Amino acid sequence: MVALDGPSGTGKTTVARTLATRLNSGYLDTGSMYRIVTLAVLRAGVDPADPAAVAAVADTARLGVGTSPERPSALLDGEDVGTGIRLADVTGAVSAVSSVPRVRELLVAEQRRIIADVVAEVGGIVVEGRDIGTVVVPDAELKVYLTASAEIRAARRSAQDSAAGREVTVAAARASVDRRDRLDSTRAASPLRAAGDAVEVDTSELSIDQVIVALSELASRRGLLRGAAESTS
Ligand code: C5P
Repeated sequence: MVALDGPSGTGKTTVARTLATRLNSGYLDTGSMYRIVTLAVLRAGVDPADPAAVAAVADTARLGVGTSPERPSALLDGEDVGTGIRLADVTGAVSAVSSVPRVRELLVAEQRRIIADVVAEVGGIVVEGRDIGTVVVPDAELKVYLTASAEIRAARRSAQDSAAGREVTVAAARASVDRRDRLDSTRAASPLRAAGDAVEVDTSELSIDQVIVALSELASRRGLLRGAAESTS
C-alpha cells in the first residue's frame, strides 16, 4: 500500500498510475471523489461555501470510482463524469467543498472501504490525495510526499489543460494553483501536509520517468514489488 500526497501539478496522478501498474496494484484517485461531490453540489445549485447545504448533497450523492490504473473512472449517480469533474467550475469550487468536515468524514470512510476491498482482491493499492499518509491510511508501507515549485506546477497544469483542449494561460494556472494550495493547506479539517514519516521528493527538476524510478526503488526496498514488476528500468 503506497500513499502519495502533495499539491497539484507535482506529477502525482501520472506517477501514481504508472507506479500502480508496475506494482500490479489497484489505484485510487481520492481527488476525483472530492471533485464528484463538488459536481453534485454545483448541479444541485447549492453554494459551495454553505457547509450545511454541501453536507446534505454529499449525504445523498451516489459516487463511484474505478480503481484500475489503466482506466480509472468517475461516476455520479451512475453517469460517467470523468470529463466534467476536470472543468474549471469544479476546480474552482472543490477546495471549499473538501473543507466541509461531513464531506471528509463520508469520503474517508468510503476510501478506506475501497482500499480494503482492492487490497483483499489484488494485494495492493497506490492511493493519491492530500491526506492519505496523515489521515486515510497512516500505516501505509510507503508514504511519499511530492513537491515542486509553484512556477513549475503552474506550467505543468497549463500544459495538461491545453493537451485536454482547455486553453489556460500559465498566469491563470498559477493563480488557480496558488489559491488551491492556500485553501487546502490552511483548512481546519485534514490540511495538506506531509506525514512525519513520508519521503519527500521534489519533482521540480525531475522528469516523470526519474520520479517513477526513484519511487520504484523505494517500493522495492520495502518489499512492495511483486512478480513481473521487479525491473525499475
Ligand atoms: O488531486 P486533485 O487536484 O484532483 O484534488 C482536487 C481537490 O480535492 C484538492 O484541491 C483538495 O481540495 C481536495 N482533496 C482533498 N483531499 C484529498 C484529495 C483531494 O481535500 N485526499
